[in-house]
Amino acid sequence: MIVRMIAKPTSPSLLGTTQDELLAMFAEWGETAYRAKQVVEWVYRRRVTSFDEMTNLSLDLRTRLAEQFSLRTTTVSSVTGSHDTTRKYLLRLHDGRFVETVLIPASPALYGDRADRRTLCVSSQVGCAYDCKFCASGLAGFTRNLTVAEIIEQVVQVEAHCGERVDNIVFMGMGEPLANYSNLSKALEILNAHWGIGIGARHMTVSTSGLAPQIKKLAELPLQIRLAISLHGATDDVRDKIMPVNRKYPLVELFEALDHWTSLRKQRITFEYILIEGVNDGLDQARVLASRAHRLDALVNLIPYNTVDGLEWKRPSESLQDAFKDVLVKAGVMTTLRREKGHDIAAACGQLRLKQETELGIIESAIPGKRITIGV
Ligand code: SF4
Repeated sequence: MIVRMIAKPTSPSLLGTTQDELLAMFAEWGETAYRAKQVVEWVYRRRVTSFDEMTNLSLDLRTRLAEQFSLRTTTVSSVTGSHDTTRKYLLRLHDGRFVETVLIPASPALYGDRADRRTLCVSSQVGCAYDCKFCASGLAGFTRNLTVAEIIEQVVQVEAHCGERVDNIVFMGMGEPLANYSNLSKALEILNAHWGIGIGARHMTVSTSGLAPQIKKLAELPLQIRLAISLHGATDDVRDKIMPVNRKYPLVELFEALDHWTSLRKQRITFEYILIEGVNDGLDQARVLASRAHRLDALVNLIPYNTVDGLEWKRPSESLQDAFKDVLVKAGVMTTLRREKGHDIAAACGQLRLKQETELGIIESAIPGKRITIGV
């Protein structure tokens, strides 16, 4: 017998639930651990979208689950592709708001036999409160944190849509991930777990504007994830102009947190550095950046600024970009300077900006202010 078991869309999603939480809940319900693990299998491995499909569970148990939980809280509202096959997914959340997530295939020219790798740039908040001056999210401000399920569903929805596995996750979409720390850390656990989405921790990167206390907390997580810092200025006077967060956590505090990180972890930190003409592209900045990166053995990603509607800054000339890079390279710092993918769909750094109106009549702004780094 088939019963209609489409849960209310506002019910919490099982996709945001850990195996331990399900085991504890099933123990309270008088159900066995075996049953809980069957549910985990349906949710994360088989990715069913209806409780009807959990055919090895009793009707009573399926009904009970359907009354309390949903299996999806988001829907794919639109997909925009570009000629280099970067795709931008617009997900509609249960409250009518939207977030974007961007799928980036690796380039054969850059990655050779690893060219089948797919990176997903994931959002962590609706809007952002941090107001980095190169980033369009500052134009609309912060709306709310994403739930654990809304983070996980970005991966699940994209994989279902494109029919392929995502190999890398970068938290470089809309929002400051470390400002949504508890949901982020739980999502990382589920994304990594063998019973969950199953993505290797080394294939997940969290990018932050520099929330020093949360960087220290993240360093304590038992997951070998990678860390990227939106640096964009090598001295406080320059960084203050670009990243308001620097007034709260100036470079001395940020680098103390990074020292803590490197004392506990082997993975190389990445510094994202957007080159903005006349603002942070001087060779004096390059020299200080080189010294800071060299001390931590960090990788530097140089990102020529992308024009954002409503912002005045410009991209430096290619010769200036090259001169900046040369200073770093000569100092022995591993440095990349690449044209970004996805430029043509406004999905490059600082360019994801939702233009859809929600049902609430609000225009949300969704932006990753950080570079999408593939396969580092
Ligand atoms: S760069 Fe990141 S932290 Fe800064 S405003 Fe944009 S989304 Fe927020």
